[in-house]
Amino acid sequence: MMERPRIVVIGDLDEEFYRILKPHAELREIPPKELVKEIENVDVLVVRGDVKITRELLDRAVRLKLIARAGSGLDNIDVDYAKRKGIKVVNVPDAPVDSVAELSIGLIISLARKIPLLDRHVKSGGWRDSWTIGIELRGKILGIVGLGRIGTRVATMAKALGMRVIAYDPYIPKAKAEQIGVLLVDSLHELLKVSDFISIHVPLTDETKGMIGAEELSLMKKGAYLVNTSRGAVIDEKALFESLASNHLGGAALDVLSEEPPVDNPLLKLDNVIITPHIGGSTLESRRRIATTIAGEILSFISTACQPELSLNVSHKALE
Ligand code: NAD
Repeated sequence: MMERPRIVVIGDLDEEFYRILKPHAELREIPPKELVKEIENVDVLVVRGDVKITRELLDRAVRLKLIARAGSGLDNIDVDYAKRKGIKVVNVPDAPVDSVAELSIGLIISLARKIPLLDRHVKSGGWRDSWTIGIELRGKILGIVGLGRIGTRVATMAKALGMRVIAYDPYIPKAKAEQIGVLLVDSLHELLKVSDFISIHVPLTDETKGMIGAEELSLMKKGAYLVNTSRGAVIDEKALFESLASNHLGGAALDVLSEEPPVDNPLLKLDNVIITPHIGGSTLESRRRIATTIAGEILSFISTACQPELSLNVSHKALE
């Protein structure tokens, strides 16, 4: 039998991952700073989204055959270069969809009813005041930027709350939006001008980096709200700060920032901003789905690529 494949994990994975793979591989958890030193001895690497897998690192990865991203976005991995080197890259884009969508709706409601601000207010001795009044969501326009997996789920939930939902996504057919009762608009500017709430769900690409800048924010309605659970760099944070500090925007809720964790980020000082620590996909359910899905992917990969004598029946049994 071939040597047991060496799997290195960076991140906090559900115990199911270890239960499934332990009989078939040598498993080790390491902190991100040790990756450079360890990479040459790794067959399969499991990483979370804040670990950068660069060209330089991949050049040292002489044994590496598979990178499993324990989550959705692949913007931390040089996927093209990995593929050129014959390294397969897999992710779990479906696993966090419900969790991120639910957080996005939670943030929309938190902005509309000022929940975090009121919580701080009451805990510091305050009670009802003229400014504590909120707004309802029913009848308001939600503009979704990026109508993919998460955007679609957010749209369905928002419609159930009585919101009118429009979306900007130049890469999907109008029919897909119509099917879920969403009006697809032709330009981002059109969406910005009419929405009461805007929720961002695009991947981070060269095209989406900074796509919400000073001009886009100035087009938003006065008092409108912006929610971002996608990637921090999609928004120009300096411009967002200006827009919020001047009370053009009513508020913003951000699960993601351009630098995580934030260092001297002025947005943290504003009362009309809600910030969560990139926990969109961090729920017990999502974590379990991520663990079992990547364990299954790894098992079937090693059973064919590394250990032909391990049959796929074994993989399926392990997943039961
Ligand atoms: P997806 O690929 O299913 O959907 C993205 C959509 O964006 C696609 O429909 C695509 O056509 C559209 N799009 C691409 N470029 C666009 C542009 N320039 N303008 C408008 N639309 C554009 O992705 P998803 O699974 O729905 O994830 C969406 C985002 O959520 C990603 O950035 C992902 O990294 C992020 N995410 C965050 C968390 C978290 O913890 N906060 C967890 C999972 C995913």
